[in-house]
Amino acid sequence: MKRRDFFKYGLGSAGVAVSGGITGRAGEINYVSQASHFQHPWWVKEIEKPKLGIDDRIYSRFEARKNVFGSMAKYYGIDNLRELSRRSEEKTKKYYQEKRPGYRLEDRALADAAWVISRQGGLNRGTRSWTRNFVTTPEERGVDKYKASPSQAAHLIKTAARYFGAATTGVALLDHRHIHSEERGKKIVFEKADEPYENDTKMVIPKKCKYAIAMTVLMPIDNIACSPTAISSAGSSMGYSRCEFLVAGLAEFIRGLGYTAIPSVNDLGSSVAVAVDAGLGELGRTNRLISPEYGPMVRLCKVLTDLPMTVDKPIDFGLMEFCKVCKRCAEACPSGCISYEDEPSFEIKGEWNNPGHKAWFEDSPKCLAYWEESTSGCSNCIAVCPWTKKDKTVIHEIVKAASAKIPALDAFFNSMDKSFGYGRQKSAEKWWKTNHFEYGIDTAQGKG
Ligand code: SF4
Ligand code: SF4
Repeated sequence: MKRRDFFKYGLGSAGVAVSGGITGRAGEINYVSQASHFQHPWWVKEIEKPKLGIDDRIYSRFEARKNVFGSMAKYYGIDNLRELSRRSEEKTKKYYQEKRPGYRLEDRALADAAWVISRQGGLNRGTRSWTRNFVTTPEERGVDKYKASPSQAAHLIKTAARYFGAATTGVALLDHRHIHSEERGKKIVFEKADEPYENDTKMVIPKKCKYAIAMTVLMPIDNIACSPTAISSAGSSMGYSRCEFLVAGLAEFIRGLGYTAIPSVNDLGSSVAVAVDAGLGELGRTNRLISPEYGPMVRLCKVLTDLPMTVDKPIDFGLMEFCKVCKRCAEACPSGCISYEDEPSFEIKGEWNNPGHKAWFEDSPKCLAYWEESTSGCSNCIAVCPWTKKDKTVIHEIVKAASAKIPALDAFFNSMDKSFGYGRQKSAEKWWKTNHFEYGIDTAQGKG
């Protein structure tokens, strides 16, 4: 069956099962086809606790030095890493000489340049400073700080976050266990303090910062589809730079309202765990967040604050069941680091995984080694995921809804997705000949 025919007739069989739910909600079709910043599509269920679960006896704060970057030398040995790096340099030169699309000077220059804003920040540095940069406080303006009900405050924050570039935003009560216990050689501690501060030995988060604002930022799908090339790396770096702008802007906005704000991207703690708590998505087979609206085509960031807000709940849209039968990311992973196990488990793969939560844990050092081997990173697992779709057409929303409601159809949808050719690598050469949207974000992909 051709893709068009499937769309025209095929849903007759697959979609009919959920059509009661969908046609019965005819007025909502437009709504579900345009992801709302404030509300998930109707087929997403709110739940009390994240689906994959935490073992409270084990789960605790992670030491950032054990992350995958810190684990590479132990896993491979220094000599092997040097050899890997030497081979990567050789390959890079060869690709330059061949003028291989996706690996040429212009491709690599684009990938580097897209980092430019992201490089302005770091843990309590630059754009991610824990104290204000320049914004005027209510006190300096001679007025009271912002006062509103928690639900009004949540709405205000989500509106501002959208303005600064968030695709979706959720609020959670901050679980201290998601925050690293140390980073940059300093302890990260929670203390009774008015403002966050850092000295020679510790970094202090005020205990009053009880709220975590989790946000997704869209990555340009046309870039990621060129994985693994420098054009796809440019998509990741653009995502990080847009996160940087978002957290810097939102933190200054909150300070301008008279409250404390601690902006963070991948530093400080697990953005994935915070985003799951805040209902932005579920943990997928890649051990990363999959959003119901945008799949894995997102970067994550967060801001901690003391501004009281209504909190969101974790969600369930059937992803865990889908991942059990899908495995597309594992098949597309050149390093073989993604789990093929049918069921998620509590069994970690190495010190880079934080134990005490259920997941499909991954052999992350193999992933980083492949980034080096490819000479320009990799995003294959993001590109092939069936939840990644460029066009937010009603048809894709119906398939997602069906999948959320009827797990028995998951294998069928996955095989149809494959046979339509979704997830195939796109040409880096063609990328340069395409008239892209701003930041490479297609409006159909990115805006509700
Ligand atoms: S980025 Fe590439 S190597 Fe790493 S997990 Fe994804 S597919 Fe595998
Ligand atoms: S590719 Fe399939 S298995 Fe992997 S995260 Fe996406 S839905 Fe889950």
